[in-house]
Amino acid sequence: MDINQRIAEITGRIKQAAQASQRPNDSVTLVAVSKVQPEDRIEAALAAGLRVFGENRVQEAQGRWADRRKAHPDLTLHLIGPLQSNKAEDAIALFDVIETVDRPKLVQTLAKLAQAGHKLPRLLVQVNTGEEEQKAGVAPRDLPALLALCAEHNLPIEGLMCIPPEDEEPAMHFALLAKLAQRHGLSVLSMGMSGDFETAIRLGATHVRVGSALFGERVRPA
Ligand SMILES: *Cc1c(COP(=O)(O)O)cnc(C)c1O
Repeated sequence: MDINQRIAEITGRIKQAAQASQRPNDSVTLVAVSKVQPEDRIEAALAAGLRVFGENRVQEAQGRWADRRKAHPDLTLHLIGPLQSNKAEDAIALFDVIETVDRPKLVQTLAKLAQAGHKLPRLLVQVNTGEEEQKAGVAPRDLPALLALCAEHNLPIEGLMCIPPEDEEPAMHFALLAKLAQRHGLSVLSMGMSGDFETAIRLGATHVRVGSALFGERVRPA
């Protein structure tokens, strides 16, 4: 399949999954995960009309998108990888959405930048639903305190994001994330990747992050 066929297939499956859950088609946004994909595939995705992209590294995203933004002012860029505090200023300059707010230090850094007059992107908190040692994200039990800290600093959090453990049934992680979002009155749910986005939509995803199913296998590991 070429990339245009893949895009048509994936967007079709997203619509079907939304309909099957009695949700409007436009209630699910496809975030095309373009990390480490070759330039020709990015160009093909833009030509096919995709405008929402996800990247997991600030520097790589700058190189790829800073100029393309000028040609495509309607782009929406999501940071979906961990953010170090020392890259926060670069990140807020480039991205429209940061999905990976996950610790007090980063909240404080973002709050300082906002106070200094920087316009902040939209923010999601990443939750480590599987409580995996090596994975970013706040543990579910620490989420209330982190959200309270965000509120104290006037940082509006729109929703939650998760990456389930690879060896576990994703549905229970999506259900947990949906429950946490509901409990805290948050409307955005970023969950579901190439292998499980239909399950995520069934459980309430508003954003699915799809890479390899859309672009083909990544040429080098992310
Ligand atoms: C790479 C990545 C994706 C996309 O993964 P695929 O399995 O290729 O769809 C989604 N979310 C995050 C956070 C990622 O790092």
